[in-house]
Amino acid sequence: MEDCIFCKIIAGEVPAKKIHEDEEIIAFEDINPQAPVHVLVIPKKHIATLNDLGKEDLDLMGRMAMAAVHVAKLKGIEDSGYRLVTNCLAGAGQAVFHIHTHVLGGRQMNWPPG
Ligand code: AMP
Ligand code: ZN
Repeated sequence: MEDCIFCKIIAGEVPAKKIHEDEEIIAFEDINPQAPVHVLVIPKKHIATLNDLGKEDLDLMGRMAMAAVHVAKLKGIEDSGYRLVTNCLAGAGQAVFHIHTHVLGGRQMNWPPG
């Protein structure tokens, strides 16, 4: 999708530090990390928000969860613990309108989040 920064990363038009790629998903380092491990997992399909998911995306969302776990294992935080976050709309802090799961860890994650 035009003017979507994450679609541009998928297309290779914007650089990113990719740590995982498969047919449907990529994962790359967040440019502004909020924890020692902060990776974004995104589908190659442009979906703006969680509200835009359809039944046809059920399998994709399962793959997203599995990719996030794979990232946690790659980063060695599968035993210390980690947090998966998907913000939906500006009120939740969503700034990039291409769905993504934040994988956060490598430090104590506090609750409740801000
Ligand atoms: P959200 O606020 O949930 O939409 O998260 C968007 C995330 O994308 C933020 O954590 C940003 O730091 C990150 N981000 C934005 N542009 C880039 C980029 N070009 N490469 C890597 N991460 C990015
Ligand atoms: Zn996009």
